[in-house]
Amino acid sequence: MRKFKGKGVYGAVAAGIVSVFKRNDVQVKRIKTDNPEAEIARLEAAKEKANAQLGEIYEKALKEVGEANAQIFEIHMMMLEDDDYNEAIVEMINGQGVNAEYAVAVTADNFAEMFSSMDDSYMQARAADVRDISNRIIACMSDCVNTGNTSHDKVIIVADDLAPSETVSLDKEKVLAFVTAHGSSNSHTAILARNMNIPAIIGVGEDCLSHIKDGDMAIADGFTGELTVNPDEETIALYEKKQQEEAEKKALLQKLRGKENRTIDGTEINIYANIGSIDNIGEVLLNDAGGIGLFRSEFLYLENSDYPSEEQQLKVYKRVLESMAAKRVIIRTLDIGADKQADYFKLEKEENPALGLRAVRLCLNRPEIFRTQLRALYRASVYGRLGIMFPMITSEWELKEILSLCDSVKAELDADNIEYSDSVELGIMIETPAAAIISDKLAPLVDFFSVGTNDLTQYTLACDRQNPHIERFCDTQHEAILRLIEISARNAHKNGTWIGICGELAADTSLTEAFLRMGIDELSVSPSFVLRVRDAVRKIDLTS
Ligand code: PEP
Ligand code: MG
Repeated sequence: MRKFKGKGVYGAVAAGIVSVFKRNDVQVKRIKTDNPEAEIARLEAAKEKANAQLGEIYEKALKEVGEANAQIFEIHMMMLEDDDYNEAIVEMINGQGVNAEYAVAVTADNFAEMFSSMDDSYMQARAADVRDISNRIIACMSDCVNTGNTSHDKVIIVADDLAPSETVSLDKEKVLAFVTAHGSSNSHTAILARNMNIPAIIGVGEDCLSHIKDGDMAIADGFTGELTVNPDEETIALYEKKQQEEAEKKALLQKLRGKENRTIDGTEINIYANIGSIDNIGEVLLNDAGGIGLFRSEFLYLENSDYPSEEQQLKVYKRVLESMAAKRVIIRTLDIGADKQADYFKLEKEENPALGLRAVRLCLNRPEIFRTQLRALYRASVYGRLGIMFPMITSEWELKEILSLCDSVKAELDADNIEYSDSVELGIMIETPAAAIISDKLAPLVDFFSVGTNDLTQYTLACDRQNPHIERFCDTQHEAILRLIEISARNAHKNGTWIGICGELAADTSLTEAFLRMGIDELSVSPSFVLRVRDAVRKIDLTS
């Protein structure tokens, strides 16, 4: 038995026979030619063929992983026509008098190198895309298309790396899991694996490839990122138990997917999901959430070693919005400070960080950081149904200052002729007792409230949420909390503002009925809780 550790990009477990992915890689040779026109004609014919293949892959992806994720193959089709890319190839054929294959391979290397050297991790991941389309063109020139070796019935695919088109071209019915030696979690391969709901592990290391062969037995744990090759009986038993638990969850899932969040008496509620990264989207879709009720955008800052730029943020927000199609996506602005610290913010050490310079306080004190995020959010708003939510509000003046910042960002975008949606919803978190108590004054200023019970509990009960020694005093169902939620709901509805709950309490199914009776419009929970809460809602009768 041998274990390899990588990064799980889709949480599920698979056990089975290994198939090592082999490419029909074409060896590209440099051949001199005195007929560059003929080479350019070969190139054009190959591109046409590649385009047709990509069209078919796009259709397959559309059915299996949805429009937003199939788009990468439309982008590949566009890359085939990219002027810079094509000019570089043609110039090399004409200038050096070389064969088309060689010119494509060298151009691919140059472009991939350029993408890899960029700071932005999204752009870095594009290196794989340019290699992918170039390999396809080369394969089309020699009539050889890359295919995986999937001779066994259902297999765990182990590869050095997988290109997006290779991932989607594999017969999903025959793939138990993907394991790659290399790869980044931001790559489209990882995103596709997640959206195909196939256990996937990336980055298990080169070493793995020399210790694994076709026909080996393996267990791929997408939760822990562990690949066990030729496991012993004890390990197999452990994983069988894990798989069984998973199967039970799946059964619940099958029963409730596609069903409404409606009580016996016909009251409906939205059940959304909380996420911290674009990586969680697969789970959101798998668990059939009606939208995203809380995207904790600060994780974008925490994962970075410097302030994420407007463009970097735009890319992430755009992808979340597109992946969720027309469903509502609520992105919370930066909630850094207290327990969430990033060195480059250079925040001073505080006596009571939970009561210190955090969230909107920091954003209002350092508006240049806030403006960058707001610009990125408004720019992304044209790609879906966006709600922007502000954390840690305690006073009316803060909210007014935030709203006027939003207006000035929009005016700036207008002046630059940059598009944004005029139906962006603005909302605040109710996570301080102050906000709940003055919710009558705050409600007319916004479209929605979302109750952050994690902080509301800590501030109402004076219980540090980080301190394990006071758990006994930290009653999450305390009457004071429930009353504050009720007051907020009443004030919200009086002003035509909708109200949700996005703190952990939203998933407490012993309170679902109470929340419905208060008129809560939305519950936003971790993706894996969506169907459990739906189950609870469907068993409630508010008339009884
Ligand atoms: C909350 O406070 O309830 C909340 C949802 O925000 P966070 O847990 O990120 O502080
Ligand atoms: Mg909070």
